Amino acid sequence: MTKYIFCTGGVVSSVGKGVTAAAIGRILKARGLTVTLQKLDPYINVDPGTMSPYQHGEVYVTIDGAETDLDLGHYERFVDVDLTRASNFTTGQVYNAVIANERRGDFLGATIQTIPHITNEIKQRIVHVGKLTNADVVIVEIGGTVGDIESLPFLEAIRQMRRDVGMRNTIYVHVTFLPFIEATGELKTKPTQHSVSELRGLGIQPHVIVARSDHPVTEELIDKIALFCDVESAGVIPLETTSYLYEVPLLLEDAGLGAYLSEALSLNGKPPDLAEWRQLADAMKLSNPQVRIAIVGKYTGLHDAYMSVRESLYHAGIANGHDIEIEWIYAGDLEKDKGWDRLHSVDGVVVPGGFGYRGVEGKILASQWARENNKPYLGLCLGMQVMCIEYARHKLDWDDANSTEFDARTSHPIIDLMPDQKTLADMGGTMRLGHYPCVLKPGTKTYDAYRTATVNERHRHRFELNNAFREELEAAGLIFSGVSPDERLVEIAEIDDHPFMVGTQFHPEFQSRPDKPHPLFNAFIQAVISQIKQKDRGKGQSKRKKREISALNGAS
Ligand code: GLN
Repeated sequence: MTKYIFCTGGVVSSVGKGVTAAAIGRILKARGLTVTLQKLDPYINVDPGTMSPYQHGEVYVTIDGAETDLDLGHYERFVDVDLTRASNFTTGQVYNAVIANERRGDFLGATIQTIPHITNEIKQRIVHVGKLTNADVVIVEIGGTVGDIESLPFLEAIRQMRRDVGMRNTIYVHVTFLPFIEATGELKTKPTQHSVSELRGLGIQPHVIVARSDHPVTEELIDKIALFCDVESAGVIPLETTSYLYEVPLLLEDAGLGAYLSEALSLNGKPPDLAEWRQLADAMKLSNPQVRIAIVGKYTGLHDAYMSVRESLYHAGIANGHDIEIEWIYAGDLEKDKGWDRLHSVDGVVVPGGFGYRGVEGKILASQWARENNKPYLGLCLGMQVMCIEYARHKLDWDDANSTEFDARTSHPIIDLMPDQKTLADMGGTMRLGHYPCVLKPGTKTYDAYRTATVNERHRHRFELNNAFREELEAAGLIFSGVSPDERLVEIAEIDDHPFMVGTQFHPEFQSRPDKPHPLFNAFIQAVISQIKQKDRGKGQSKRKKREISALNGAS
């Protein structure tokens, strides 16, 4: 029998409900259970693919090409599973499906209503993801905060699920926040009490309260929350803010959440084995000294837009024993002669994916700087395209080389729309999305990083390297180290006479895991570290030389 854990949020948004759901997944997986996760998003968009990163942060792409919520990134990284489109749905998708059924005549004269038609569709999608993956436990996170109008049908559906699948098979986890009042030096539980009473008004009595806070939560406070919210004290799990994201499963486990869920749901797991995860958390803390990497992007001040890129850099840092410090640089600044001192101070450059012209010239400048100064560079999707544009402009003297995304009339459209994109009218869900195979060229840096002949990587783009310019670019020294099996699409480009300059048309950041860094991020960070070491050795040598010279001078 599949068990369901429903995670709701209260008090305020952005308290880490997604990370909590993901961490619960990890502590259950550590018990040998099969876990899957699902995010229900109450907004009306069909998916986040067409939403601005300012609204939504990163769009996370699954292997089967769904454009999903960034919480799926946390789920995949914490639990080390490849999720599919079944793991994320929105109000827009639910209504789309119900209306399509109605138009087809499936409801035979019935009046279509929120209850039961919309709630049935929601429940069916929750049950479906468990069946699809044969999971022992399905962890379902409801987006937004209790009290939002949009989330009411979702909350009603998960209320009904308890009746449908039984008390022993469902549990409600409510993630709240305890504000700290500076003047009195106290944590407050009242907002938590209010949000639980709101949830109760909808017919849901939570069993677990994960109380997020920026300060230690005392036993006394735990008992108070338990009393006022009618939850067992063992079900109140304090979760203090930590600077180490991957420590969260350990904090929850050590606070007794794994044991509590196992007991409440009668899970037949083994004793938890989190030894490797503990090693990982320790490695995160010891990693030193810092390596400084620039992310040259369009959405600065909005780190969520590049969440998987940031995490992938951290993973490679952990594996190589170095802490990564990210220098966020707004590409548009570089165009206006700003931010250059910060770029000059880094050890390596990442240009991530992006759409639209704003900041592109700045990204091209960053790529040129990395190439000319032998700084390790990793280009991701748009970052690969700008790397090729820069190469064409400055090594082949094609001054107007560009992507037709930015200049439709260039005489050197070295990046162009893929042929099957030319006739598309809809923007939503129509890019080249999801897993595609890529064949690697032996003897390249890319091949050395992966050490395998073929890889599968996740894509999200409309444009590609234009084959009409391929030969000339190759002759000028650009190496196409990864191509599609039919050789028609360039997937990876690299530069030979450079310590590490690699660009991928796909997004490797979606496949990195904290304990298994992505091979390209790993190779990039290794190139950065070896360059720093060389520089340090160089410094040592020149110091030695200076000493030798002054000794000689002294002798003369
Ligand atoms: N805008 C580019 C394209 O559509 C790059 C996309 C991306 O970086 N994800 O091809």
